[in-house]
Amino acid sequence: MQTEREFVWQQRLCVTYSTLANRMSGNPGQTERPVDNFGNSNILLKASFNPALNLRAPTPFPRKLRFVRKFFIAGNWKMNLLRDSSVALVHQLMDQLHDSQDVDVAVCPPSVYLHDVGAAIRGSRLQLGAQNVYHAPDGAFTGEVSCTMLKDLGCSYVILGHSERRAIFGETDRDVNVKLLAVLNAGLTPIVCVGETLAQREAGQTQSVVRDQTTHSLAGLTAEQMATTVIAYEPVWAIGTGKTATPSQAEEVHADIRQLLGTLFGHAVAQKVVIQYGGSVKADNANELLSQPNIDGALVGGASLKAESFLPIVQAAMKIKK
Ligand code: PEP
Repeated sequence: MQTEREFVWQQRLCVTYSTLANRMSGNPGQTERPVDNFGNSNILLKASFNPALNLRAPTPFPRKLRFVRKFFIAGNWKMNLLRDSSVALVHQLMDQLHDSQDVDVAVCPPSVYLHDVGAAIRGSRLQLGAQNVYHAPDGAFTGEVSCTMLKDLGCSYVILGHSERRAIFGETDRDVNVKLLAVLNAGLTPIVCVGETLAQREAGQTQSVVRDQTTHSLAGLTAEQMATTVIAYEPVWAIGTGKTATPSQAEEVHADIRQLLGTLFGHAVAQKVVIQYGGSVKADNANELLSQPNIDGALVGGASLKAESFLPIVQAAMKIKK
């Protein structure tokens, strides 16, 4: 997911910021000291402009430090569209996505249309994702679909633990965790959804709920597996309601998730994890949300069902990237 240029930049920045942090702490020899994560770099920004430290700021100093992570926009079509309209939609998207190398883009159609949509987008910039999976490799599980089957259809991603699956189908963090391990072992990229309900937010429980879901859903992952796992923060009260978390509300939770990942898996891993925001993302709020330092993309429901509402979200990411 990372281009060579981004990798080189990442290495340079890590060295520069380690040096800055170590000089700030009066500990210039200890280059391994963890530096602040990319969402909390104010101390480093201040340090770089402090003449007393006699440091040259990295040039050009990045407006944002997010470019170590590539934007990822995914459309969750849920149980919508039919075969013809699904294929027509991806044709419209592909016509407009030629310049989107800096942004990963995926569509997640209903499982019955994965084959047709997969065939239509083969060889294009669009990638294919599923909305759910069953953890067992095969067997007597009527109505279910395995990771191997999804791979066979050309899927790269699988959405796990979407709030609709948690609320309507009773999926727990443990279910998500079992599926997650199966998805990773199959070489697919999981998109793990977490988020609080309105009642939980109003009771001041957002942080504890999201931290709990994240910790339990990710139990047993290696650092390497974590680095390739995508997280989608989706406040339940914002999904399909037209209510969006403000950019600062969303950023606060994203930064906290990244901090938690740092504690669980190490700082370097936490910096690599793509954290999408989901919840009524549209053309007119995408730019502000995606401009937040810890928001690395969007999981889009309603607005992903039409090219004219999905493409501007991808284009917003492309503009921020440039
Ligand atoms: C979703 O289904 O993950 C979602 C965020 O939906 P919407 O964009 O419609 O709120």
